[in-house]
Amino acid sequence: MALLLSCNTEKMHQQIHGVKIYTISGDIDSLVTEWLDLGINTAFVSEEIAENTVFRAKAKENGIAVFIIEPVFFNPEVLKKDSSLYAITNEGNIAKSDWVEFVCPSNRNYRDSILLKLEKDVRVLKPDGISLDFIRHFVYWEMVGPEQPADSIEHGCFCNRCVSGFSKETDIALPDTFTSISGRASYILSHFKDEWTAWKCGLITAFVEKITTDLNSVDPDLKFNLHAVPWRSDDYEGGIRTIAGQDFAALSQYVDYISPMCYAFMLYRDGPWVASVVENLDKQAPGMILPSIQVRQEYRTDQVSDKVFESYLQDALKAPSQGVIFWSWEHLEKEPGKKKIIRAYLNP
Ligand SMILES: [Zn+2]
Repeated sequence: MALLLSCNTEKMHQQIHGVKIYTISGDIDSLVTEWLDLGINTAFVSEEIAENTVFRAKAKENGIAVFIIEPVFFNPEVLKKDSSLYAITNEGNIAKSDWVEFVCPSNRNYRDSILLKLEKDVRVLKPDGISLDFIRHFVYWEMVGPEQPADSIEHGCFCNRCVSGFSKETDIALPDTFTSISGRASYILSHFKDEWTAWKCGLITAFVEKITTDLNSVDPDLKFNLHAVPWRSDDYEGGIRTIAGQDFAALSQYVDYISPMCYAFMLYRDGPWVASVVENLDKQAPGMILPSIQVRQEYRTDQVSDKVFESYLQDALKAPSQGVIFWSWEHLEKEPGKKKIIRAYLNP
């Protein structure tokens, strides 16, 4: 019995119970106290919060691990100053849809600038981890419903640099007679889809390898989480690789956690779907799947009831899950009913 108890305790400690938080509105002392009361042990924070010395000290003092969220290729601020950085979609448009806008991932100067920024964050702010968000190709997955055909999903990048990089690195010669970017994209996808997919996934994986290797040379204990598009291997005809460019098996060599954004409510899915995403991703990247779940409505006018939220949480915690991350604290702090449910599940 004692052995069983100690195993359970150990397992509990290994589980991550996290919140994503982007701005702090109230008193930091009470915030951390409330997290401890709920059973939260990890905070995934914006750079702005990580720069707050009082927050960092309180988190450390109370054993709350801090991961800085880096929105790698999502950068409206930089794109506003230089529109030549935009990724280009298969339809020939700049990669901007509603609030989602993406930098082309093959731009080496941009990638170097992100790496420099992260190195500085690690040296100065000394976080426990880095949480790599938007580290993929452009796709507005938040708006892709369960029944949407794969070939109707707009994605990128098909800019000149990406296409010539692909051609050069794979030794595939492409005709130079295309009259439009969309024509060229459709030619590549109909003749060289497998090669193109391998190349675009490789671009993302290689950058993750570079980031994690470089940052671990600054801090060997630094952990890495990667935010994943919540698509199972067969969804949208393998769109997780062909569209988003995230190859979980390859990425798993370099990160500690892969965190699918299982925002079931806005995607018109349910609790069992959350568990099925975790299970599917775990087959590709064993022992590192950490689902993030939605607390409040987004993109819909009806509400996420406490009961529905409980079903998401229950399914998110099922094996082989490594824990759960709530998106977001800003939403959760206004929800006493959901906090009560969390307290019960995370402090059994
Ligand atoms: Zn590009």
